[in-house]
Amino acid sequence: MEEPMAFSSLRGSDRCPADDSLKKYEQSVKLSGIKRDIEELYEAVPQLVSVFKIKDKIGEGTFSSVYLATAQLQEGHEEKIALKHLIPTSHPVRIAAELQCLTVAGGQDNVMGVKYCFRKNDHVVIAMPYLEHESFLDILNSLSFQEVREYMYNLFVALKRIHQFGIVHRDVKPSNFLYNRRLKKYALVDFGLAQGTRDTKIELLKFVQSEAQQEDCSRNKYHGVVGHKGLLSRPAPKTMDQQCTPKTSVKRSYENTQVHIKQGKDGKEGSVGLSVQRSVFGERNFNIHSSISHESPAEKLIKQSKTVDIISRKLATKKTAISTKAMNSVMRETARSCTAVLTCDCYRSDRVCSVCLSRQQQVAPRAGTPGFRAPEVLTKCPDQTTAIDMWSAGVIFLSLLSGRYPFYKASDDLTALAQIMTIRGSRETIQAAKAFGKSILCSKEVPAQDLRALCERLRGLDSTTPRSAIGPPGNTSHDPAASENPDHKTSRVQAAQAQYSEDSLYERDSDGYRSHPRDCTSNSEGWDSVPDEAYDLLDKLLDLNPASRITAEAALLHPFFKDMCS
Ligand code: ADP
Ligand code: MG
Ligand code: ZN
Repeated sequence: MEEPMAFSSLRGSDRCPADDSLKKYEQSVKLSGIKRDIEELYEAVPQLVSVFKIKDKIGEGTFSSVYLATAQLQEGHEEKIALKHLIPTSHPVRIAAELQCLTVAGGQDNVMGVKYCFRKNDHVVIAMPYLEHESFLDILNSLSFQEVREYMYNLFVALKRIHQFGIVHRDVKPSNFLYNRRLKKYALVDFGLAQGTRDTKIELLKFVQSEAQQEDCSRNKYHGVVGHKGLLSRPAPKTMDQQCTPKTSVKRSYENTQVHIKQGKDGKEGSVGLSVQRSVFGERNFNIHSSISHESPAEKLIKQSKTVDIISRKLATKKTAISTKAMNSVMRETARSCTAVLTCDCYRSDRVCSVCLSRQQQVAPRAGTPGFRAPEVLTKCPDQTTAIDMWSAGVIFLSLLSGRYPFYKASDDLTALAQIMTIRGSRETIQAAKAFGKSILCSKEVPAQDLRALCERLRGLDSTTPRSAIGPPGNTSHDPAASENPDHKTSRVQAAQAQYSEDSLYERDSDGYRSHPRDCTSNSEGWDSVPDEAYDLLDKLLDLNPASRITAEAALLHPFFKDMCS
């Protein structure tokens, strides 16, 4: 429940009494559920009872539940606190690393801090200052251009801060960047997926990092390694009762780490590593087949064995059914390193050769939310840097400028990559991937789009588009498609547009709900004269090549922010 659902206030007048009583019933079920959860939390971590009055549940994800509480911290002064209760199966090191990010880097520059931490047995609760915040979707189309500028500026302030500490957040998205519009306050939260750069200043992230990279070989060793290290060596939050120093000796399966669960959530995609061609644009608009192959020096050691060959044949037969569609205009780009190495020739065929089958599946961190993942994450590039957060910031900016959220909606990485290609161009994407050692195969060429034209079209500001063709203004929450997936409130048009078909951008769906850049007149201030600098910055954030992508520090100095008082 990252984005609060907003269905309740919508239907207003045409609601019948039956609807009303059903609503009330649902409400009461929900309330009693929350009440029960609060009671259970008090029971699990009894030391909370004497300090907090837990009022409500404000967030529930796969890895945590977040509650609003009040605390009588000073005489007569009641303070609002957010209590994040981590799921008991979270890996102790993961928890400790999240805490360390908050304690070391947090508390300033728009990065959430931490006040206290409580633990009893497997239950860990992080107490943070509460920041009341908006739902991104609710305010997206009422923001003035100046507010968008401020929002992005403050996001970069936060990213600059964490990147200085060598923290890669890995899950930058609106629900993790709290925004209080009235107070103009911002806070980057949720370091549950964070990883460290090579020279990270967050000690515990060093373990988290190696965890992702040694995925297969270190399953059991892991506990041993961290078991004797002092956790939370940095200034920790004030101690209250049992202060949180997660016991690393607690035996838990390695698979319980957040990273793993999040990956699992999105489904397997081992075929990518095996270079199996998989239809990227299986959706009706597309006829593009894509495969990504990894060419690491390790693959020089490709062994062919009979066993593999047999499997390969079996797989090849299966594959025929999946992708016999002719790859008409196959573009092949092979990364430097591989031309000499690869002797495989299956890229044009509908078979997977034994060379490809014997490839090790590549392990690379890929946690996060598909629509916000950078190309190097989607292609499982093992060298991932703070640049991946900048890409995600670019996707947020794209939403703000186009009025569409989520902008990209994809359930798997290849679809996400294909959607990126439709905006940034297939040739450009392939070219960039080459720079980081990946070759992408794509049977259809799609051109890069002009960012200004795209955003203005989607916003409905493009004067060349007849307004009648734009469709009715409305709220995405009205859209029937919004209920397809509770985690991704999106309209069909957003998905379809991300999947792109230039001609169909403003097509109307049979249900009439389709293209509806929402009424932007609610706060047209500044939107009629968006400066080129905005699109220049967007272009630099959505740079397909992480090596040249703009950094947070540089973004703050970008002309787009000139005259901004920080
Ligand atoms: P998760 O790992 O489950 O996504 P988050 O740390 O992102 O956990 O918190 C989930 C949600 O809880 C956030 O999207 C936000 O709405 C709310 N939340 C988290 N921390 C705070 C806070 N300090 N103040 C107010 N709300 C918060
Ligand atoms: Mg979150
Ligand atoms: Zn092959």
